[in-house]
Amino acid sequence: MLITLKFLKWEPLRNVKLWLRPLQVFVILMLQGCLVFAQRKVIVIDPGHGGKDSGAIGVNYLQEKKVVLNIAMEILSLNKTIFENRFDIYLTRYTDTLISLSDRTKLAKALNADVFISLHCNHANNSSAKGVEVYVPNSNSRFTDGAIELGLAVLNESTINLGLKNRGDKIANFQVLRESNPYYPAVLFEMGFVTNKNEADYFLKTNNRSAMALVILMGLYNFLNTES
Ligand SMILES: [Zn+2]
Repeated sequence: MLITLKFLKWEPLRNVKLWLRPLQVFVILMLQGCLVFAQRKVIVIDPGHGGKDSGAIGVNYLQEKKVVLNIAMEILSLNKTIFENRFDIYLTRYTDTLISLSDRTKLAKALNADVFISLHCNHANNSSAKGVEVYVPNSNSRFTDGAIELGLAVLNESTINLGLKNRGDKIANFQVLRESNPYYPAVLFEMGFVTNKNEADYFLKTNNRSAMALVILMGLYNFLNTES
């Protein structure tokens, strides 16, 4: 845009009016483009664990770190295909590597995140434990209510559309939530129990992982579009 304006100033053409109109249109389009870009909400998806930390191991031997990364990558892909790049989405890790918890939130802060969601799979000694649950920060900030609303939005989409048991919105003093809460709404989403045979097998299928990614993105969409 600056180059165009300089060009306008120094161009010695006599018939400058003929040039001016298309250039004005061009500048207006550029400005509109910048405006649209500026309005895009920044979502940071945090696939839990990674590298030497495999997270929970399923009854079918699937590893939590792989499930959460796969679903996070699918969210990126669905944002491009179904949501037409509506959101500016970043992951805290794109490969099977271990990132410290503080680096995950530092990244989100550096990116001026509008929202942060950490993805995990649950585990329990009781193999019949099942369903999805969301953790929100137990500290108070101007973003705590937003985190609760975001959690409910993701829970609603996943339980209504996927038929998973709703275990509710819970509070926790997890590091990624505690360090995020002063800056943006942050939740930790437990997507189901890998210690439950049905739910562990659910994550084995590509279509099911895509469905989980889609309901998370719909929850984020609902939250970001109703935010006051
Ligand atoms: Zn985990």
